[in-house]
Amino acid sequence: MSSSPSTESAAFRSALDVVRAVEPGVADAITAELASQRASLKLIASENYASPAVLLAMGNWLSDKYAEGTIGRRFYAGCAQVDTIETIGAGHARELFGTPHAYLQPHSGIDANLVAYWAILARRIEAPALERAGARQVNDLSEEDWSRLRHELGNQRMLGMSLDAGGHLTHGFRPNISGKMFDQRSYGTDPETGLIDYAVVRETAREFRPLVLVAGYSAYPRRVNFAVLREIADEVGATFMVDMAHFAGLVAGKVFTGDFDPVPHAHIVTTTTHKSLRGPRGGMVLCQPELAEAVDRGCPLVLGGPLPNVMAAKAVALAEARQPSFQEYAQRIVDNAQALSDGLIRRGSRLVTGGTDNHLVLIDVGGYGLTGRQAEQALLDAGIVTNRNAIPRDPNGAWYTSGIRIGTPALTTRGLGTAEMDQIAGLIHEVLSQARPGTTSSGAPSKATCAADPALGDRVAKQAAELLAQFPLYPSVDLG
Ligand SMILES: *Cc1c(COP(=O)(O)O)cnc(C)c1O
Repeated sequence: MSSSPSTESAAFRSALDVVRAVEPGVADAITAELASQRASLKLIASENYASPAVLLAMGNWLSDKYAEGTIGRRFYAGCAQVDTIETIGAGHARELFGTPHAYLQPHSGIDANLVAYWAILARRIEAPALERAGARQVNDLSEEDWSRLRHELGNQRMLGMSLDAGGHLTHGFRPNISGKMFDQRSYGTDPETGLIDYAVVRETAREFRPLVLVAGYSAYPRRVNFAVLREIADEVGATFMVDMAHFAGLVAGKVFTGDFDPVPHAHIVTTTTHKSLRGPRGGMVLCQPELAEAVDRGCPLVLGGPLPNVMAAKAVALAEARQPSFQEYAQRIVDNAQALSDGLIRRGSRLVTGGTDNHLVLIDVGGYGLTGRQAEQALLDAGIVTNRNAIPRDPNGAWYTSGIRIGTPALTTRGLGTAEMDQIAGLIHEVLSQARPGTTSSGAPSKATCAADPALGDRVAKQAAELLAQFPLYPSVDLG
């Protein structure tokens, strides 16, 4: 299926030559970025490496085209090829996820969530209000009806997972626009087990009666039972939305099936395409037929004009995800996360929920006497790229935090396996157990800095580099 290494090298080299002739600074930075990605042990749970085919599908004249509207119904002429591309991509998404409707235009995961919220409000609040008033569209409403509708639209309730339990800012939290659109309440996790307590979610939903129940996370290391959450949503008349931005690859790869596959249970599913799904940076919405028309109005009502070049890359990535090899990849992501988790636990790390059944592991670095900020820095100095993250009921708050989130999608793409994960667990444990909280210039303890032995950092970085050298990134791309 794949093209030859020499073809791929030639494609990227030529592209860079063309860019270099205009702005060498940019061509050099693109080249340097490859070197830097090749040299870093990337454990950021939300990142991955897209294939050369995905990358190349993005860099061309499709970018020149305006294509507001939907397939076959555009506000601009000359969209035949964009129609073809969006039709291919949506077809792959429908087949891959078993969904009746797929919308490929969102530019990112956050945009996909806004489209979904708009669609839910349009369908459940705006449409009945228009009908009551005998109006076809909002412009036909009287000032009085419009003012009532605006008030109603801005006063709906959303129930989502709390931020410190791993939920996302766009699930109704105050600093985000979703927190201004909705009156939000959240569910957390059980203080003992660290797991979602579905009985508490049910109780909260019964009392709060949300219009929207949102599930999905950026930092919860476990499966979620979407069948139970749908039952709860039905019981209180809520629309059930799942944001699978992080774990879409595990759904596509059939690791999450049955009750753990959100697509058959949710009314509407949003995702990014660049995390575990391994496509271009972007978003997507999947939904039941009753929401399809409202979702399709995402552009231009919520989104700016679609990016046809990125939709082309999404279509390529979705075609890749339909290959049997993608299911093997998804299973290896989880096997690797479990090996990492086992390796850390065996060495004495404290993990939120005591393990993982998805692509990510959350270390409670309080066990090492560190804040997340200190741990992140100590690991980075040793060549290990992670990010700090709040843990449930975090004593250090959302900025310093007490957690380190690590994920395996990227290193799994690179080809690392469970034996390498155990070695990495050893390196992480060694760095964290040697690092000491730092002090400010006046000698007071500092949550931000840490003191680590530079010799240890250098040695671990060297070991990490040796490990990576066995698994070249983009082996088919030689920029000379
Ligand atoms: C990453 C993420 C997003 C945001 O995606 P962007 O493409 O960065 O906009 C939204 N929701 C969840 C749960 C995420 O993890």
